[in-house]
Amino acid sequence: MPPKHIIQLDDIEIEVTRKSVKNLNIRIYPTAGRVAMSIPKRTDLSVAEEFARKKFSWINKHLNKRAIQKAKKVQSLSYRDGEIHTVWGQKMVLSVNEVNRPPRVQKRDDKLCLMVRPESSPQKRESVLIEWYRAELKREIPKLIKKWEGIMKVDVREFGVKRMKTRWGTCNIRAQRIWLSLELAKKDPKCLEYVVVHEMVHVHERLHNKRFYRLMDQFLPDWRERDLLLKGEKRTC
Ligand SMILES: [Zn+2]
Repeated sequence: MPPKHIIQLDDIEIEVTRKSVKNLNIRIYPTAGRVAMSIPKRTDLSVAEEFARKKFSWINKHLNKRAIQKAKKVQSLSYRDGEIHTVWGQKMVLSVNEVNRPPRVQKRDDKLCLMVRPESSPQKRESVLIEWYRAELKREIPKLIKKWEGIMKVDVREFGVKRMKTRWGTCNIRAQRIWLSLELAKKDPKCLEYVVVHEMVHVHERLHNKRFYRLMDQFLPDWRERDLLLKGEKRTC
C-alpha cells in the first residue's frame, strides 16, 4: 500500500501516516533509504513538515551513514584486470590495457575494456569509468524523454546525471528538470526507463498518492516488476 502522504525535503521523501499516537515520530530505515513518520490523526501536514524540517540534519546524517558504508563497498573495487563490473544489468569482465593515449572505455562482448596510461591509479581508472557510465546514460536518457514526452504530454526542460546518495531520481516540478542517478547505468535498461517515467509522472502529480500510482499503471503497467528489478530483488522482469 502506498503511504498516505509524502513530505519532500530536498531529495528526501518522508512517508507520513496518521495513526492513533500522541506525538509525532520519525523512523529511519537506512538500509532501504526510507524515512517514515507517524503523526496523530488530527495533526496538520504543515505541522508535520515543520517538525521534519527541524530534524532535517539528523535525518540526513542517519541516511547518509548507510550511503557512506555503501560507497565504501563500491570503493573496494580495485579496477584491475579480471574484476567484475556491471553495465546495463550485465556482468562484464574488466580488461585493463595500458596505452599511451587518452583514456577510453569500450564494450566488447562480455568484456569492458579500459584503456588507460601505464601506472594509472585506481582513482584515475574509477573516474574514467564513471565518466563513461555518465556518457552511456546521457546517450540513452534523451531518447527515453522524447518517447515519453509524446505519450505523457509533459515537457522535460532539462535533465542531469549525478551521483546520488539515497535516490534513483528526482524531479524539480517547477523547473521541469529531472536528475537521474549515475548508478542506473549499472542496472537493466528497463530500470532507467522506469525511473524516467516515474520522475516524469511527478510533473503531473507531485505526491506519491493514488493518482500518481494510477498514472504509473496507465503509462507503465509493469512498473512494479521494474521496481523489483531495480532494487535487485529479482533478476529478470
Ligand atoms: Zn517519486
